[in-house]
Amino acid sequence: MSRYLSADIYYKEKYHEKVARLSLSSGLSCPNRDGTLGNTGCIFCSKLGAGDFAANSKDSIKDQIESQIEFLKKKWNAKKYIAYFQSFTNTYGDVDYLRKIFYEAIEYPGVVGLTIATRADCLSDEILELLEELNKVTDLNIELGLQTVNEKTIEYIRRGYSHKTFDKNVRNLINLGIDVTTHVIFGLPGEDETDFMNTIDYINEIHPLGIKIHSFYIERGSNIYEEYVRGEVSTIDMETYVRSVVNAICRLKRDIVLFRITGDPVKSLLVEPKWCQDKLKVIATINKTLKNLGVPLLKLEEK
Ligand code: SF4
Repeated sequence: MSRYLSADIYYKEKYHEKVARLSLSSGLSCPNRDGTLGNTGCIFCSKLGAGDFAANSKDSIKDQIESQIEFLKKKWNAKKYIAYFQSFTNTYGDVDYLRKIFYEAIEYPGVVGLTIATRADCLSDEILELLEELNKVTDLNIELGLQTVNEKTIEYIRRGYSHKTFDKNVRNLINLGIDVTTHVIFGLPGEDETDFMNTIDYINEIHPLGIKIHSFYIERGSNIYEEYVRGEVSTIDMETYVRSVVNAICRLKRDIVLFRITGDPVKSLLVEPKWCQDKLKVIATINKTLKNLGVPLLKLEEK
């Protein structure tokens, strides 16, 4: 039972059983990291390209899927899977290559869906055609890094394209009937709770399938790490984060899926804030606060 529509509930309702996500690597880079856009990455991007725990990109997609299934067996006995391309920009490549790897993934037995993380400025007409095609044959979900709607912050984090571009391209996908999940960060330098709620209001307006929220955190090897070492940047405390997520859940339309309400930083790379390492504690505190506030349990017909 939950007070919000979690990924677990969403998939169980849809597939009537546990669906596990297989983290796969396309082997592609990102135009904001390789110098194409004149940047060396969004300020928070680590060497893993904002995606963790993925399989080895040197292996074939089939081999990656098999090693991920083997790995996940220790945790869940799932028989259905979502092929998840998370790290870097997974539409930043030749369309024939993309077609090949995406089909290889969805044709594997038990794979019921495909989630592709990418940038809103990497959705050419050719790519959109491929996504429309995939959307007809699998449960497609496109993950886009929004982070914030505040243009000043977007420039500061060196995302590499404006909110206007995001807005145009996300609406394009939604109008094509393609499911979209938007990624949001609470606690970016210079932002406060008003900024976080402005971002949530925008998400309500475009009404995607889902949202992922996590706190701003600093990892070794990211561009922001240097600023942190110089004492120029601080991170959000757990109390403010929990309060902000609770407010976001209360404000968000009830049928928007919360695929994530906390981050999952790589422990060996994480510098600050340390509290976000304890994912279970953060989630439990959010749930307890929702209960104390009297937020009702989700009735499935609300979806
Ligand atoms: S768009 Fe993603 S992969 Fe590219 S630099 Fe930003 S966080 Fe890293």
